Amino acid sequence: MFLKATADTKEHAPSYYAATANWQTDYPQLENDIDVDVVVVGGGFSGVATTVELCERGYNVALIESNRIGWGASGRNGGQIIGGYGQDPSAFRSTIGEEGVDVVEKMGVECVEIIKARIEKYNIDCDLKWGYCEVGLKKRHLKAYREWAKEDSAIELLNRDELKGYINSDIYIGGYYRKDWGHIQPLNLCIGEARAAESMGAKIFEQSEIINITYGDHPAVHTDKGSIKGNHVILCGNAYMSNLVPYLDARVLPATSCIIATEPLSRDQIAQTMVRDVAVCDSRTALDYYRLSADKRLLFGGLSNYSGLEPVNFEAVMRSKMAKVFPSLKDIRIDYSWSGKMGISVRRMPQIGRIKGSNVLYISGYSGHGVAPTHMTGRILAEAVDGNTHRFDIMDKMFHMPWPGGKLLRRPAMAVGMMWYKTLDAL
Ligand SMILES: Cc1cc2nc3c(=O)[nH]c(=O)nc-3n(C[C@H](O)[C@H](O)[C@H](O)COP(=O)(O)OP(=O)(O)OC[C@H]3O[C@@H](n4cnc5c(N)ncnc54)[C@H](O)[C@@H]3O)c2cc1C
Repeated sequence: MFLKATADTKEHAPSYYAATANWQTDYPQLENDIDVDVVVVGGGFSGVATTVELCERGYNVALIESNRIGWGASGRNGGQIIGGYGQDPSAFRSTIGEEGVDVVEKMGVECVEIIKARIEKYNIDCDLKWGYCEVGLKKRHLKAYREWAKEDSAIELLNRDELKGYINSDIYIGGYYRKDWGHIQPLNLCIGEARAAESMGAKIFEQSEIINITYGDHPAVHTDKGSIKGNHVILCGNAYMSNLVPYLDARVLPATSCIIATEPLSRDQIAQTMVRDVAVCDSRTALDYYRLSADKRLLFGGLSNYSGLEPVNFEAVMRSKMAKVFPSLKDIRIDYSWSGKMGISVRRMPQIGRIKGSNVLYISGYSGHGVAPTHMTGRILAEAVDGNTHRFDIMDKMFHMPWPGGKLLRRPAMAVGMMWYKTLDAL
């Protein structure tokens, strides 16, 4: 498979989401030197949710974004609201203790509640739907679901026939449904939250890239035209922050994932595919994820690539993946295709911490699972700024390990690792 770099511009990727955005944001560039309480860098869910939480607590906040609000992973993702952190917190018991595990598990529920409450509170129009299915291709997937269902009463196990009442595909041997997770149009949620923050007084700047940071007790960030100083700086650039902070760059591997959006499906096509309007993930490491949009297109995603590149012909590759799940859609028109980068951390747990000896805090590395967790992060970071570091400290205690292999070898090393997982997926 030939690979190429994503042709990003400073405007939104050519996604279904950009085409159906409720607002075209046009915030000013930073052109002078200003002082605020808190500076947030990066206008994705992490940065926007942090800004909302800080504004709600009465802080004077500036949010600064290289491109447009929601330009990164937050405005391009599968839109699936999935609770938890994608990684079992008990794997960190030795560092965060039993209480820490309990706190992280509860946050995995709270993150979804935050989204629900925020959409209601600020009346954000973002096509929210509840309902989620995880679907299995192997007996070991079903075994895992049975184990999880013992601990989590929200999981409703589905055998092969029952699952067909949700997803009409022959390839799955079973799955589960839960009604407390769901899906949204993510760009509209992100922009809606930014507008909520703006209404509470946040100063928002777009197309203003931070190129330098002054660390210390009163840190500052600098663009080529201006600067913002605060009592805290919070870095939320995640997979798109490149080498601005080498410490973080060493700990985040940007991986690419691709999505296609079909033309709107007819009633018959829906009956042959997405019988219920749920978000769906399969249980492989290199997973397919998909759902219907509000206007009944199938948004089908997958193809995680740890080289950070995308296949030259990714639309064709995604079409063939979709046709394996739903053969009846093999010739359907594809109206949109796009890709985005997600930050992968070594331990597949979001990395929340502080740059040593400074009031510069950071978050990165949700490892492909961030729509809901970013909202929890916003709360944890705002609590920390507000003097309550309990949950921040628990997250900070989980080791933030650099990717082995350094800048040159970490990508090939990870690509080999991913090939290993793909082989396991196939067994
Ligand atoms: C294709 C795809 C599908 C996904 N699907 C799902 C899904 O269905 N469910 C789910 O839970 N998760 C999903 N994810 C993961 C999820 O989207 C991310 O974890 C989440 O959006 C991360 O948000 P963020 O704000 O941390 O980063 P981003 O949304 O990437 O935002 C970072 C922002 O920082 C800005 N920035 C970077 N550097 C600078 C700088 N120097 N100065 C100023 N601004 C800067 C960037 O321009 C960018 O806008 C998916 C990811 C991708 C790519």
